[in-house]
Amino acid sequence: MNESIQFSTTRPLYGQVAVVTGASRGIGSAIAISLAKAGASVAVNYVSSSNQALDVVSVCRSFGSQAMAISADVTKEPQVASLFTQIEATLGAPSILVNNAGHALTSLLIDTTPQQWDDMMSMHLKAPYLCIRRSLDHMIRAKYGRIINISSIWGIVGGSCESAYSAAKGGVIAFTKALSKELAPSGITVNAVAPGVVDTDMIQDLTEEDRDSLVTQTPVGRLGTPGDIAALVTFLANPGSSFLTGQVISPNGGLVT
Ligand code: NAP
Repeated sequence: MNESIQFSTTRPLYGQVAVVTGASRGIGSAIAISLAKAGASVAVNYVSSSNQALDVVSVCRSFGSQAMAISADVTKEPQVASLFTQIEATLGAPSILVNNAGHALTSLLIDTTPQQWDDMMSMHLKAPYLCIRRSLDHMIRAKYGRIINISSIWGIVGGSCESAYSAAKGGVIAFTKALSKELAPSGITVNAVAPGVVDTDMIQDLTEEDRDSLVTQTPVGRLGTPGDIAALVTFLANPGSSFLTGQVISPNGGLVT
């Protein structure tokens, strides 16, 4: 572990730099805020919601942590390179990477175009690959890192009319497991978080009937909140979580067991 990283019990991530992709809204914004509350300096990535990203930065700073908002489409290699260059110049090299950016696709496979298929793979597999590869130089040299990939319950059990999204999120799980073995000797953990249904913009197209049905099917009797997911990600980002790697943890209210 890098000796220069300082730890405290109240702000266990003090001295560390975290990058959260897709942190302007939803789950990513809650993760960014939770990591800042735990003491990390946080890079809030987004693609177009600059005002919302700046609001997240303000909340992060209110906890006494450094934070910056950076627009970058993380499916594009030059934009990922620029994202990391800006973070390194301002906050320092990240030791925590949360691959969260994403969007779903509800479509019968027969209606899914090759472009939509490629878009799902690019968003959920290529983007984490690009961000992880760019992070590794520093993490390997530091012999320390925490990589957390956001998958989905549909990546575990498959979602009806969401085969492209499910395939991509299932790929995230296989990618996580393989990479965890490769990086464990370098002190870098790699885990996947596979949320159940979380109340964010991503599910706003659901009808009231569909939402009620999902709540009924969920044993805890409610949809997830972004904070539910952020608490788990922050736990995984902790230095103390060093024996936890290659795992898929699914905060889903008991919907999938
Ligand atoms: P959300 O509220 O729709 O937010 C999506 C975030 O991703 C936004 O910050 C958006 O930025 C960003 N983004 C989208 N494309 C991007 C790109 N190419 N480059 C950089 N940022 C990009 O979604 P969410 O519900 O919080 O979902 C977050 C993650 O959790 C996703 O990977 C999703 O698949 C996964 N997940 C969600 C649920 C759920 O029920 N909500 C369940 C399981 C898994 P802008 O604001 O700039 O557009």
